[in-house]
Amino acid sequence: MPPLADRHGRRFPYLRLSITPACNFRCRYCLPHGYHAEAGSAGPLTLDEIARLLRGFAELGMQKLRITGGEPGVRRDLVEVLRTAAAAPGLKKLAMTTNGTLLSRRLHAWMDAGLNAINVSVDSLDRAAFARITGHDRLDDILHGVDMALDAELPAVKLNAVLLRGVNDNELPRWLDYLRDHAVGLRFIELMQTGDNLAFFRDHHVRAEALAGELRERGWQALPRALDDGPAREYTHPDYAGRIGIIAPYAKDFCAGCNRLRVTATGDLRLCLFGEFGIPLRKYLARDDQLPDLVRAIGGQIGRKEQGHFLHQGRTGITPHLASTGG
Ligand code: SF4
Repeated sequence: MPPLADRHGRRFPYLRLSITPACNFRCRYCLPHGYHAEAGSAGPLTLDEIARLLRGFAELGMQKLRITGGEPGVRRDLVEVLRTAAAAPGLKKLAMTTNGTLLSRRLHAWMDAGLNAINVSVDSLDRAAFARITGHDRLDDILHGVDMALDAELPAVKLNAVLLRGVNDNELPRWLDYLRDHAVGLRFIELMQTGDNLAFFRDHHVRAEALAGELRERGWQALPRALDDGPAREYTHPDYAGRIGIIAPYAKDFCAGCNRLRVTATGDLRLCLFGEFGIPLRKYLARDDQLPDLVRAIGGQIGRKEQGHFLHQGRTGITPHLASTGG
């Protein structure tokens, strides 16, 4: 089944599924006051609901799945979720984004369950700066987990660093030292405005594109993009084991290559990270025989997907913070 396509000629083989809005970190650009469950909010999708959801997206050509949160590691049944996800028909890549707090302890259980790609949030290689950004002094243990993933030859190991003016935007030399002998894909992610972070955004936003120029000056070469690649513009250099990707959502044509849909932890389909609405799918996940209704419900919405986001107009849609949709 070819992946779903929208009216702008884009195809969507890539699903990002949040399995919990909860997180054990309190990153300043996302959940500066930590996670607090909303009173009366529905619990996250159960294993059975997740299995039914993924069968629906498999019918619609899903090839890549990313498990996100909040922090997926706070879900006690994460290994069962990964095993359920890995069983989705037609799935080629099962990835997860994590803050790494459980990585060194749980990596092998996750890999045994079918995980074959991981993105770990490491916003700084400076221990004190890392603790200031995340609220936790855990850098050393997390980097140890990253080394374990490389030693275990996990097919794809990436690090996500959100660029913050005056906080970590002076760390390129340090990162280059690290990438000389660490075969990871480092992603520099431009800070995005969300519903809750306007003041922080104004104080710390810096355009990621400027970094691309600096990399080119240092001899880094841009790589072509694959159909199910994430939004990063990737660069390599013969003297470095690692690669660098730049995610610049404010760049011109950023959304032209959009290839992903999202589902929140409570089962709402999001056509765009900064979309103005969510489509509840949970009512189609109660029984196996609802599969045709689920497929119709998802397929019937793709026509509403906008050409791109409206972040330049300061419109952040219904996304209060990235933990609510899994980024
Ligand atoms: S902002 Fe929306 S349209 Fe643009 S790439 Fe992200 S999800 Fe796609």
